[in-house]
Amino acid sequence: MKKITLGISSCLLGNPVRYDGGHKLDHFLADTLGQYVDWVPVCPEVECGLPVPREAMHLVGDAVSPRLMTIRTGVDHTSRMRQWATKKVMALAAEDLCGFVFKSRSPSSGMRGVKIYSPEGVPISTGAGIFAKAFQDCFPLLPVEDEGRLHDPGLRENFIERVFVYKRWKEFRASDRTIGGLVSFHTSHKLLVMAHSPKHYSALGKLVADPKQVKRDELFERYFRTLMEGLQFLATVRKNTNVLQHMAGYFKKQLSADEKQELQDVITNYHRELVPLIVPMTLLQHYVRKYNAEYLKQQSYLNPHPLELMLRNHV
Ligand code: SF4
Repeated sequence: MKKITLGISSCLLGNPVRYDGGHKLDHFLADTLGQYVDWVPVCPEVECGLPVPREAMHLVGDAVSPRLMTIRTGVDHTSRMRQWATKKVMALAAEDLCGFVFKSRSPSSGMRGVKIYSPEGVPISTGAGIFAKAFQDCFPLLPVEDEGRLHDPGLRENFIERVFVYKRWKEFRASDRTIGGLVSFHTSHKLLVMAHSPKHYSALGKLVADPKQVKRDELFERYFRTLMEGLQFLATVRKNTNVLQHMAGYFKKQLSADEKQELQDVITNYHRELVPLIVPMTLLQHYVRKYNAEYLKQQSYLNPHPLELMLRNHV
């Protein structure tokens, strides 16, 4: 499999670029996810010309447009950072990125929830770091997360699923711009979208069912925006159970009464959170192979990301 290109805050790969000369190596990102990823490391503070070590900074002022100030001496680095960030996001547009992992809580790299202080040093609100905001404004549909949130198994699976969908969409758009191609892409992602957001599943179905309602470029743009918005909703146990039951329905005729009962028991155990998603998925995959279930075979929901990431192994 060709590796995926993701941006990342440089200190998360163990590069000693932090204000104190240290790093914030994240082993899951560097070692596990790293096997499938070509990382593009970015350290806004060093790349905009600040030294290592340097005085620590924080955000000051209003939530919409905070200033980037050093904490002890009050030096304002906002203009320097904004100018660099504008050029950097343009350069990153050529990098074929399928996502970005930001360092949480950083006044430069934090994608959300970064503390913003009053001039007196009192926390008054939260927002995004200067570079992270410029990046997200420029690439609103690109999957982004921070390493802190990626410690949550549900958020981790959600992010990685979005990254792989983004990659497949880019590959599809590079090789096929036909309506028929869009229908095929949609067909193979139906169950995945259903597991995230039945509402977006229905909206995407309507777009594809009546492709002539808008011009082709707009159709593709609307489809992709709706898809990425829908995938941001977490695939909960309830929604996954619904999809598993939907899949089980394809084997009504082939399975014996015993096999049907076994499948229902496994799905119920997943619904009761006694076993992880990988358990009913494995049994269903077995039946998909055994009975050559064409429609299910093409579903990305069965293999949304590499098994080795073990994203469906948690209860
Ligand atoms: S958080 Fe961002 S700016 Fe700070 S050291 Fe890491 S990459 Fe550099």
